[in-house]
Order: sequence, then structure tokens, then C-alpha cells
Amino acid sequence: MADETESVSLRPPEGSIVDTRYWHLLDDGRVQCDVCPRACKLHDGQRGLCFVRGAEAGRIKLFSYGRSSGFCIDPIEKKPLNHFLPGTSVLSFGTAGCNLACKFCLSPDTLVATTRGMRRIAELFESCAEKISQHGGGIGLPGSLHAWTRGGKQARVAKVFAHRYSGELLSLQAACCPPILLTPNHKVFAALWSDLEDVRSIAAAELTTDHYLVIPREQAGNGIRIDAAGTLDTGAALLVNVRRVEQTLYQGPVYNLEIDDPDHSYLAPFVAVSNCQNWDMSKSREMDTLADRASPEELADAADRLGCASVAFTYNDPVVFMEYAIDTARACRARGIRSVAVTAGYMCAEPRAEFYRHMDAANVDLKAFTERFYYKVCGGALAPVLETLEYLKRETTVWFEITTLLIPGENDSDDELDRLTRWIADRLGPDVPLHFTAFHPDWKMLDKPRTPSATLTRARHIALANGLRYVYTGNVHDREGGSTYCPHCHTRLIERDWYELGEWKLTDTGGCRRCGAAIPGVFAGPPGDWGTRRLGVRLAARVETAR
Ligand code: SF4
Repeated sequence: MADETESVSLRPPEGSIVDTRYWHLLDDGRVQCDVCPRACKLHDGQRGLCFVRGAEAGRIKLFSYGRSSGFCIDPIEKKPLNHFLPGTSVLSFGTAGCNLACKFCLSPDTLVATTRGMRRIAELFESCAEKISQHGGGIGLPGSLHAWTRGGKQARVAKVFAHRYSGELLSLQAACCPPILLTPNHKVFAALWSDLEDVRSIAAAELTTDHYLVIPREQAGNGIRIDAAGTLDTGAALLVNVRRVEQTLYQGPVYNLEIDDPDHSYLAPFVAVSNCQNWDMSKSREMDTLADRASPEELADAADRLGCASVAFTYNDPVVFMEYAIDTARACRARGIRSVAVTAGYMCAEPRAEFYRHMDAANVDLKAFTERFYYKVCGGALAPVLETLEYLKRETTVWFEITTLLIPGENDSDDELDRLTRWIADRLGPDVPLHFTAFHPDWKMLDKPRTPSATLTRARHIALANGLRYVYTGNVHDREGGSTYCPHCHTRLIERDWYELGEWKLTDTGGCRRCGAAIPGVFAGPPGDWGTRRLGVRLAARVETAR
């Protein structure tokens, strides 16, 4: 993986950089990170594929300690965990970085509003007189190119990034705009219907039909007349409703721009999108969005104060920021608050053992049951994920559940689902809960979800037939598939509709009230009453204004 790295000059605040333990020196002078199977081999000044770890002074350091992309209180069912303190609230947060090849770019045909008119982003790269080649792509230096920002200003395009990509793209469709094809983590400027003045930079994957995208009025020079029908006019900008977000798989080049403007925005083609955030050199911009700062103690205190039963390391995989997650879990444990890892399970044995000593629960994303899928869609491998699952079962007391996001035609065949669920039953036992979720967790599309409910139900039936006792359908209204049943007397013990709890027929220690059978999981008294709410919270001073 040595060539999937890049030198960077941007340096986060000093307190964010900490030494790490899992690395070793190589004969050629490089240093290898041993946290995940990517095994990035780095020269000083280079970052690993996850970008938040990198080599400095002959050792691997973490560059995102104590920094977060934001905090939210969620129902624990949203992680998803159905057998872990049901009904309670969890303080969720993430940092930046991903070790499964997350990308932050736009498709080649995306039009960008430049001062020379609408131009394809691929053409902007091709037309750069000077290009710096990198493995898998390059950086173009365009000279005198200028683009329009969301503030209506002209700003210099400092760089055009290109790299190869294999994975999901989202087609973002808003009223009166052509669709934009972009990677799920690419950020666009949007506001929620409930507070249209609060425009933020939001990952495409988090957009719902409650969001409105921003079209600045000032697009002089584009020669484009925007039809304002169906938009909300705020004076400086038009707000257009997100109509649909659809997923597609893609292999090929993707692109992004670095804009020389404090706002870090440009228009694609009319709506405001965030400055470059691709995974290599420009991914340093993702670090810019780590605007909230909180020490482990502050986080644990906040969870305590806000009445959360647990803290979840989520949004991005805590594997890559394990030092921060572990210190936070320690601080939480001292206050009686549990810690939850939401992870893809892509981790090496030694750091994995240390990491899970501090976790109380985990939801592991088992993306598919073929190496082909892992290689093609995530650029990773299946075997290490299965090892993590077996490790959790055999060598820890961590409560864990598994999630498989079903993508039609990719990982939802009867044969694959049969093999996946047989493996779980054989190697992990029948009591590990399995969630089949519809693509994508947070989307509220106007038409049917991309994954039909029938697919989730079919998958659930296959898993039940293979002996799994707790199989759930997720992100759909499906009382039968979302509820927990006693495997002995078949009483419905916990009724769920999406994240909402209904009927409750468990004892305080998790036994069936009818037949007394013990239900596996972590149960402590009656269910919590957090409900389905999602509440954004601000814990500490911002380190900079990124939204
Ligand atoms: S955590 Fe994984 S992706 Fe990140 S630097 Fe280490 S080996 Fe590379």
C-alpha cells in the first residue's frame, strides 16, 4: 500500500497528534502501520490510506486525536444494536478517515461553473498544463482557471485532482437541477426544511428529502438562467429540495477541485458543493471539517450529563482512531457509561485485542460474503473481517451484532445469503443477531427504497432457515422483521417499528416473561424511553468554522 499515500504539508493542531504503538520499521527506511491489513508503508511526511495516521519522525502517529466531525444523540437501535440496552440513547461521534477506500469525488461528466462557462470536470483536469502524477491518478495545476463559489465570488482553482475509483456513487437529484453523480462522502451545502437558515456542509450519503440544496443567485458569467419555479428564494440563494438519492456502482476516474477561497466551495453545476476532499493529498480538507474538539473526559462527562447509556464510535471506523476511542472508552467506563464500536472489522490481531478490551459492544459490518465484493467495492478483503467476528465470539465478552447492507444484484443472491448465514450459524452460533438493512440507512426517498422490502424479507427467511434466531430487517417499516421473538415459545418479546419500541415482554434481566428463556444480550431493567429522536449536540469550542 506504500503507493496509496501522499506527502502533506498541512498539519493539524499539536494536541491532535499522538504517538501510536502498532508499527514497525522496514529495511528501506520506511515505517509500516500495523493497525489494519492495509499495512501502509510510509516515508516521513506521508499519510496512510485512512489519512488520519501517518509517518513522522520515523514512527506512525495519529493526527486526529480529540477532534470530531460532530456529535449526535441517537437511539441505540440506530447503530444498529437490538439486544444492547434497548430504548436507550447513545452519544455518537466520528472523526475522519476510513481504511476501506472511502473516496470523496465527482464523476467525470460533472459540470463545474467556471468563469469560462460550464466545463466538464474531467476536461478541467485534462487541460491543466502541469500535472503531477500519482499512483492511480494525479494533481493538475490549472494556472489561471477560476470558478464561482457559493458566495457568488470568483475564486482561483488551485488544483484539480483525479484518481481511479471503484465503488458506490450516488446520483443526487434535486428540483430543477441535473443529477450530480458523486461519492457518498462528498459534501454538499444543504439546509433542513425545519431550519432553512442553517446551511451546512453535509455528506451526500446523509441527505434526505427533507434537505434543500443551495443555488447561489450570483452565477454571473455562466450564461445560465435558472428556472426558479419550485425553489425557495432566500434572497442571496435559491434552495432546491432533494427529490431522490440513488446508488450506483462505478469503476473509473473521479475528480475534485481545490478552490483558493476560505469558503472552499464551488458550483456543480449550479448547486454549491464542498471543496476537494478526495482520499489522498486533498483529504487533508476532510480534517478541516473536524471542527469539534473534545477530550475523552469531556466526551464522557457530556454523555453522563446528557443521560446517554453509551457512547458510539461511528460515522467513520474507530479502527483508524483507536487511541482516541480507547481513551474515551476508559473515561466512559469510569463513569459507568458503555462504549460501542461501529466498525467494518478490518483490523490486525494485536491492535484488535487491545481495542476490544475497552469496548462493551460492537456492530460489525459484514458487507458481503465474497472476496470479489470486498475487493471491487471496498478495495479490501473479506477474510480479516471474518477473523474479527470469530475473535469477538471466541475471545471476548463484547456484545456484538452484525449488519449486512443488501445491494440488489451485488450481494443479495440466495446462494450468497445462504453461505453467509450458514457461516454465522456454524462459526458464531445461532444467537448472534443479524441485521439485513436496506440501502441507505438515512435516506427517505419519495419512491421505493433501492433495496426492495421483499429482498430483506427473503434474506431474513434464509437466515432463519439456517438456524439463526435473531434476524432483523432494518431501515424499513416491518414490525415482523424488526421485532425480537422468543426462540422457545415464539412470543413477541420486543416489538419494533424501525427504531420505535412497542410491546415489551422481557424481564429486567432479559428473560422471556412467558417461558423464562434467557435472551442473549445486555439488558438492564425496563427499556429506555429515548424514542426515535436524533439530536445534534455541540460539546465544545469549535476549532474553526467549517460549515
Ligand atoms: S490504519 Fe490501516 S489504512 Fe490507516 S495507516 Fe494504518 S494500515 Fe494504513
